[in-house]
Amino acid sequence: MVAENYHQIQKRVEEACRRAGRSPEEVTLIAVSKTKPVPMLLEAYQAGARDFGENKVQEILEKYPELPKDIRWHMIGHLQTNKVRQVVGKACMIHSVDSVKLAKEIDKESAKHGIVTPILLEVNVAEEESKFGFHADEVDAAIDEMTALSHILISGLMTIAPFVEDGEENRQFFKKLKQLYIDMQAKKADNINMSVLSMGMTGDFETAIEEGATMVRVGTGIFGVR
Ligand SMILES: *Cc1c(COP(=O)(O)O)cnc(C)c1O
Repeated sequence: MVAENYHQIQKRVEEACRRAGRSPEEVTLIAVSKTKPVPMLLEAYQAGARDFGENKVQEILEKYPELPKDIRWHMIGHLQTNKVRQVVGKACMIHSVDSVKLAKEIDKESAKHGIVTPILLEVNVAEEESKFGFHADEVDAAIDEMTALSHILISGLMTIAPFVEDGEENRQFFKKLKQLYIDMQAKKADNINMSVLSMGMTGDFETAIEEGATMVRVGTGIFGVR
């Protein structure tokens, strides 16, 4: 079932790319496997999935040793500074950087490992009270405060759009994040390489691709309801 779902979602990603006049190679499908057991992840792996998304450090730590080493683990959930130490070196990218303090901590731990960790700034474009993330108008100043951190690579922006019945309703937020992304691409520093726009989930990933997403994070559509 998981394999079939994965192929279906892949096909829908490709079709959305075609509609938008984009190459499917521009879009990475991240299989969001939070709460799902290792055998289901293996099924997705066997279907071709190599990028997996988890929202809890503990879950990455548990699953990491059980699965093939060529998997790229994406940390997509809220991250507390005291957990950074455990995830640096395991996550290929941290999508959910929502404070300068957190970026500094990731930089510090990455330096200890002698690595550079790619990060995305999470932006609360819809300005939902319940969500983490920078406000859109805070991103510019936040990046300025991060430019001296040589063990992070500021790679782009991420958003979690509101939960809606019709993905079309989120188009406005994807457009807004894309515009902010373009604006931030003008910023120059050694640790900036704005190339990732992480937006779109099961209910709205096609709309997100049409608006320029380079990474979509799909859980329910691949693994079923949680
Ligand atoms: C759970 C989660 C997803 C996947 O959501 P689905 O609606 O199940 O596709 C994507 N991004 C983040 C940050 C999540 O926490």
